Amino acid sequence: DRLIAAQPQADEGRVDHAIRPRRLVEYIGQPGAREQLEIFISAARGRAESLDHTLVFGPPGLGKTTLANIIAAEMNVDIKSTSGPVLERAGDLAAMLTNLQPGDVLFIDEIHRLSPVVEEVLYPAMEDFQLDIVIGEGPAARSIKLDLPPFTLVGATTRAGLLTSPLRDRFGIVQRLEFYGIDDLTEIVARSARLLRVEADREGAAEIARRARGTPRIANRLLRRVRDFAEVRGNGQLNAEIADQALNMLHVDRHGLDHMDRRLLLAMIEKFDGGPVGVDSLAAAISEERDTIEDVIEPYLIQQGFMMRTARGRVVTRQAYLHFGLAARDDIPH
Ligand code: ADP
Repeated sequence: DRLIAAQPQADEGRVDHAIRPRRLVEYIGQPGAREQLEIFISAARGRAESLDHTLVFGPPGLGKTTLANIIAAEMNVDIKSTSGPVLERAGDLAAMLTNLQPGDVLFIDEIHRLSPVVEEVLYPAMEDFQLDIVIGEGPAARSIKLDLPPFTLVGATTRAGLLTSPLRDRFGIVQRLEFYGIDDLTEIVARSARLLRVEADREGAAEIARRARGTPRIANRLLRRVRDFAEVRGNGQLNAEIADQALNMLHVDRHGLDHMDRRLLLAMIEKFDGGPVGVDSLAAAISEERDTIEDVIEPYLIQQGFMMRTARGRVVTRQAYLHFGLAARDDIPH
């Protein structure tokens, strides 16, 4: 597994439970989303209504699931969680919806992966709190209508553009999560260290933050690996030097790039002369899925200015050449 993968890894649930923020005040960074949600939640509570359906989008590991749970906690209701690919049939969604108590949050992760039939059931449920499904087949088929309690759907997706527009239009609140800056990530690492009882100084936390690709999940994972290193090679104290040594050993470079990032950028430079190159050719050149490139590898590289997406394809920037100590042609963009 990729150490800097933004997706959760098998063993992370238990640790995650210990460090996941529970309330909005513990949710570090994302000032825009936090401030707006504070207002919407407090207004809904004041009116004793359920919160409007909320769509949260952004790359993996930035805190979408965390935010869904916080919304439920702040609204003082229960949360039932599922995901797009798990809801295979209309009946799967119907079962979840009929299990909700008034005001509950229904969290659907990867909501862009709902099948069209399931999505059809979701529309009247979101709009009128009505369940409208057909059970049985052929002449015995019957259509059933049921009233549902008011509830809040919280949907999460990596890119808002992946949703069909009828689904997107049914969300009253839409929040986009951004990659975290170094200061916010440093605070996240420092907070996690406290909760995990690791002695970390500010520079140590900052060194991890700088290499965590703007992503809390990665920051927390690097913290755990650096802690191991500090305990075995040091005296357990986590400082900048220990963090630097540990992360170098783990091949996470000063910009948080790993071998996959380097492979993608180097392929663009060496095989395509810096681009422009189509994502499919790039996928073939480095033997990766197109989706992996689009969802996992390139968002951070684009955000950091190592490459760009243009109408004619992907191009690397001067900064990528510099990163590898290579000279860039004059026409390579900054
Ligand atoms: P997503 O659902 O977007 O993939 P998660 O909500 O599962 O991401 O968050 C991943 C991890 O990052 C969680 O363990 C959580 O503890 C941590 N995390 C996410 N956002 C924040 C935040 N704003 N402040 C502190 N920790 C956070």
